[in-house]
Formats: sequence, C-alpha cells, structure tokens
Amino acid sequence: MKTILITGGTGYIGSHAVVAFEQAGYKTVIVDNLSNSSLKTIDGIEKIIGYRPDFFEVDLRDKTKLEDVFRKYDFDWVVHFAWLKAVWESCEKPLEYFDNNIVWSIRLFELMKDYWVRNIIFSSSATVYTSPQPSPLKEREQAQSWIKEDFVTWNTSNPYGTTKFLLEVILTDLSKFAGFNVINLRYFNPIGAHESWYIWEDPDGIPNNLLPYIMKVATGELKKLRVFWDDYDTVDGTWVRDYIDVVDLIDGHLKAYELLENIPLSNFPPEGERIATKGFIDNFNLWVGRWVSVLEMVEAAKKVTGKDITYEIAPRREGDLGEVYCNPSKAKSILDWEATTSLEDSLRNSWKFYNK
Ligand code: NAD
Ligand code: UDP
Repeated sequence: MKTILITGGTGYIGSHAVVAFEQAGYKTVIVDNLSNSSLKTIDGIEKIIGYRPDFFEVDLRDKTKLEDVFRKYDFDWVVHFAWLKAVWESCEKPLEYFDNNIVWSIRLFELMKDYWVRNIIFSSSATVYTSPQPSPLKEREQAQSWIKEDFVTWNTSNPYGTTKFLLEVILTDLSKFAGFNVINLRYFNPIGAHESWYIWEDPDGIPNNLLPYIMKVATGELKKLRVFWDDYDTVDGTWVRDYIDVVDLIDGHLKAYELLENIPLSNFPPEGERIATKGFIDNFNLWVGRWVSVLEMVEAAKKVTGKDITYEIAPRREGDLGEVYCNPSKAKSILDWEATTSLEDSLRNSWKFYNK
C-alpha cells in the first residue's frame, strides 16, 4: 500500500485529504504542529473512516522529530499543506511567514532528498499570479479575471503569495536538479465541509475568511459582516471569487496523484542506481469556473440558513486581490477533473456544522 506523508493534515484542507486518501486505499501519516488546528480533527477523521490515522505532533522546524517520522515509514509521496495562511497577518509579519513557510519547507525537502521521497503535491495558491499581468501581455491584462496556468507569477500582492511563489520556484529547481516530481496545485477560496460535518473549517476567534464569518453571523455569534468595499467594477460592486467545495478540491488532489503515478518509470531509478535525475513539474488551477460576489454569497447563505445576515460596507482590506476567477480547463483536460458541487450544497454542509 502506498504511504503518503500529509503535512498540515489536521488543518481544514489537509483533514479532508486524509479522509479521501484513506478511503481511496492509501495509508496516510499526518504531521502537524496544531498551531491552527486541534486533536478534535483526529477524532472527526476516526469517526468518518472508522480508525485513527497515524498522527505526529511535529513542527516542521524540528528536523530531528520530523526525521524520526521519516525513519518510521517508507513514504511514497508527500502532500504539503502545512503553512501559515492568513493574508492580512502576512502583511503584518512577513518575516514570520518567510520563516515558517519557506525555511521550514526546505527542512522537509532535505529529508525528502535524504530518504529518497521524490514525489510531492504542493498546495499553492492563486495569489502567485501577478496582478495585473505585466505589459506587453495586454490581452492577458484584459483577461486577468480568467487566470490561466501560463500567466505571469511574481510581484505578488502580499507576503503570503510571495511565500507560495518562492516555494514554486524552489520546487521547479528541485524538479530540474534533484529529481523531484511535483504537481503544483493553485487554488483559492475553498468552502464547505465533509457531509458528515465531523471535520470542518472552524477557525478560533474571529474568522478572516468570508464563509466562516458569514456562518458565525448566521448563528448570532458575530453581529455583522464587514463587506470590504462595494464600489468595484463588478456585478454589484463587491469583489468576486471562484469558491470551490473542499471535497471537490481534494478530488483534484487524488487525480493529480494518479497523474504522478503514471509518470514514466525512467523518473524513478531503481534502488542502487539512485542518482539525481531530472524530475517533473506541472501546475494546475483547481477552480470551478464560477464566480460569486461577496453580496451574492450573503444572499445564498441567507437562503440556505434561513437567517438574516446583517452587513455593513467597510474599507478595503490590506493585501486583498480584486476579482479572481480562473480558467480550470487544463485540469479538466489533463487530470480529467472538474468541480461539481453546487454553491448551495457547499453552504448546506457548512451550515450543518455551524448550526449543530
Ligand atoms: P489550515 O491552517 O487549516 O491548515 C494548515 C495546517 O498547517 C494547520 O493545521 C497548522 O497547524 C499546520 N502548520 C502550520 N505551520 C506548521 C509548521 N511549521 N509545522 C507543522 N504544521 C504546521 O489551512 P488550510 O486552509 O487547510 O490550508 C492548507 C494549505 O492550502 C495551505 O498551504 C494553504 O496556504 C493552502 N491554501 C489554502 C487556501 C484557503 O483559502 N484555505 C487557498 C489556497 C491555498
Ligand atoms: N470579505 C469580506 N468580509 C470579510 C471577509 C472577506 O468582505 O469579513 C471579502 C474579501 O474582501 C474577498 C472575499 O470576501 O473579496 C473573500 O475573502 P476571503 O478572506 O474568504 O478569501 P481571499 O480571497 O481574500 O483569500
């Protein structure tokens, strides 16, 4: 049975990945420092899959502890989710973000290199795309909202995006010079939860992301939503995103994994002949191709929850991107993947959790 190391596996997206990979017949091993998650997630995963996944409370900064995990298992793959991910916080603490997200990922890659684990799915983000696209790519500038994988990536809008961009650059070089096989998945705005609602997105305190915030207004835990500005050139003046259901998103990771499995054997030199060969890297946007404004999301949530969602218009949030939605056609044609969950179903699964 293939064994997969999942960093950040008790987090929102990582926990859904553990469930999906286990249910697809793989063995997963989680490492997480629980800085933005808790052991309750392990209980939730156990309720869904019927047994406790292997979990190690390890900070990626602690190479010795991480190496103990590499010694214990013969990993075939790594799916790398562990990250600090709050855009606004990255603007306040850029060095902390570079340290946690870049320096400590390099520790992980060192161990992958030493233990001959060459395959990785990286959880990147749409924040890597330069906005607006630079001249002379005028036509791209026009089509900025329909982001494609070959759009320019640098000069990001916030340090969080820069950490994703830098890691993509590092992984590209590791694919060229250290034989790493990399599937780089760029996504944005995952929403929803597993239908069991045993695992979920439940940030401590006041959420940064739109949907958990809206849900907490619906339950009455928070008084009103602040809509970060309403005078943009969009359908109703509020910013537009392409929200994707987390279960669809993880299905995209499984499809990416299948693609990596089918890479020609020449990329996997046999035991004893292991030298750093040329690896492989490819980028995919995992998005729906459906755009929803902040106020449209409020309306949809009102319908699903049956609650009023009070809001006020507030100034723009630092580091926020404008309209973002992408063209998911490459993932459709190469990974044979597309997102199928309706916005209402995603909201319904989230509401099951918040309303329990
Ligand atoms: P999350 O915060 O729920 O999960 C990240 C996990 O990583 C947490 O459990 C945290 O405790 C852990 N972690 C952080 N630093 C660590 C360290 N040094 N050592 C060990 N564990 C550490 O976030 P998420 O929403 O599940 O995001 C998962 C990945 O997807 C991240 O890489 C994020 O950047 C990426 N992503 C998220 C979104 C989104 O909107 N949620 C969008 C695009 C990409
Ligand atoms: N947003 C908002 N109020 C909030 C949180 C978010 O108006 O309390 C808006 C934000 O400006 C963005 C969209 O909702 O246009 C999605 O924000 P989120 O933080 O969920 O994801 P982002 O796309 O910024 O990563």
